Amino acid sequence: MLNHRLLLAQILTFAYKTSWIALGLFLSCATHAAKIGTELAWPTPNDAFLQGKPARTYLQPTVSGRVESGAYGCTRNSGNKFHEGIDLKAVHRNAKGIAVDKIFCIADGIVTHISAKTADSNFGKYVVVQHQSGGLEWCSLYAHLRSIQGNIRKGTRIKAGQVLGVMGNTSSNIEIPESRAHLHLEIGFRLNSYFDRWYAKQDYKTPNLHGSWNGINFLGIDPLDFFRYHLDHPSAPISAYFLNQPPSFEILQYHDSIPDFLNRNPGFLHGQSTSRKGNWYLVEFTWFGLPSKWSPIDSSHIDKRFQKDQFYIRTFKHEKACRSWIDEVNGEFEATRILKRHLEILSQK
Ligand SMILES: [Zn+2]
Repeated sequence: MLNHRLLLAQILTFAYKTSWIALGLFLSCATHAAKIGTELAWPTPNDAFLQGKPARTYLQPTVSGRVESGAYGCTRNSGNKFHEGIDLKAVHRNAKGIAVDKIFCIADGIVTHISAKTADSNFGKYVVVQHQSGGLEWCSLYAHLRSIQGNIRKGTRIKAGQVLGVMGNTSSNIEIPESRAHLHLEIGFRLNSYFDRWYAKQDYKTPNLHGSWNGINFLGIDPLDFFRYHLDHPSAPISAYFLNQPPSFEILQYHDSIPDFLNRNPGFLHGQSTSRKGNWYLVEFTWFGLPSKWSPIDSSHIDKRFQKDQFYIRTFKHEKACRSWIDEVNGEFEATRILKRHLEILSQK
């Protein structure tokens, strides 16, 4: 009898240990983000992209079912609608079919905005983290969350790979069925920290609940291209990707003080140091609108006919139909409404 008891105790101990081992393995899959180089982490538990698997294994398509609709760029409405981030699909669901994938922060930073009410944004519940690297203030935005982790507050210092919340399908106005729950991830830059002042002058019908973290003020880069670059260049600083974007057009414009964008992103300044009193700048923009190179131009090199309250389009390469910054009318370049708005926001003081 004693032997039997001992045996039972041994079996129980064994079962207890294996269940802990199993639980430990489960937790390690679900709570640790895959690393990219030394500074970055993948934002969901599904690392298929890092394994080089096809896009359908990690991108969540729209109702169209086209895989590319989950990618960044002119990927929607036959190439006419811009998607400023990527949609990463759920891979972990509970018994009721609800997505439970954890969402990880992609780099060290500070939580600068939390929108915790679904009704407040088409992003639903979302979190923005601000990062600093090489004189650039860049951000990552995590949208449609089901829930935000309890210890995540505005001002929280956060590490790459730390849990921000759980994937979901929240949105104030977009109907996202549970079957298409996903993370909408944006990586990019705030155009202006005084965005509120610009917003107040417009005739928008709704109040701006998100300050300078409003989507209109957020300029997204291609997250997959960003991660791919850092997979290929694991020792490159994070800023290297942002500084190596090819230009699409150049604008010459006078600013009577250092523009807010340049003040926060001195890594984009080229050539002579800029004067606090005011300067002409030749600014290179990428096809998606990032002002990624600011060269101060001495006023002695500026044509006397140029006026300080105007801007001048210097070069233009037409690249993507869904981001129409410039029209060519009778051989002349003309700024579209979108470009005028973009420059207006960048110039806000
Ligand atoms: Zn999206």
